Amino acid sequence: MAINMRQKSWGQSLRDLLFPRLCFICGAKITDGFICPGCFKKIIFLPPPLCMMCSSPLRNGKINICKNCLGKNFFYERLISITYYTEPLVSLLRLFKYKHYDFLKNFFCSIIINHLKKTGLDFAHYDLILSVPSHPLRIKERGYNQTELLGKLIAEYANLPFEKNILACKNYYESQTTLPNSQRLKNPKGCFSVSRSLPGKKIILIDDVVTTRATVSECSRVLKTTGAKNITVITLTKAG
Ligand SMILES: [Zn+2]
Ligand SMILES: [Zn+2]
Repeated sequence: MAINMRQKSWGQSLRDLLFPRLCFICGAKITDGFICPGCFKKIIFLPPPLCMMCSSPLRNGKINICKNCLGKNFFYERLISITYYTEPLVSLLRLFKYKHYDFLKNFFCSIIINHLKKTGLDFAHYDLILSVPSHPLRIKERGYNQTELLGKLIAEYANLPFEKNILACKNYYESQTTLPNSQRLKNPKGCFSVSRSLPGKKIILIDDVVTTRATVSECSRVLKTTGAKNITVITLTKAG
């Protein structure tokens, strides 16, 4: 056993010498992971108390909904965003979505799970996990649907089934984050379909970035039409 460890250690040292591991953001040498501790510290986690419908920080911890969300219907029951959409996550998500760095799913998933552990979210209260679908053409471009990769990993941790074929995206619409605010809201309407009914189901819906919430709300709306009872949206980051 000691010999194996020593051999592994030598092998690792040689690999580090020949192919030093570098932070994806600043290029500093690192021993493991994808970014250095300095860049990790720049990730801004959303500080509680948060609005239960948009994850915006609340001034008053006695209420659980912000002024902007009061009286509005988003079709889901709760939205939990973990971080702000700022660097280094903007760059890392770009690599994840557009440069085939699909292995970053592990990094993002660990951020989500570690945060959810702190908030005390009980996965046992839910029946299944879904992710916001991409249009087949977009999946063809990227080679994968990034939210599906996150959803699958989170489902493994949560010991819940992950269903990738229930929600589908029928219309190819422009990326939410690249459109001005005025154009985003109407965009996802009618884009999504559900392949089977989900009577009484309690669902976790995963997305990578939430902007206006129009997409996750529209997904929730079509899920509710099939009898889904409760939907909690979980997103890695919150833009805007
Ligand atoms: Zn760095
Ligand atoms: Zn709110």
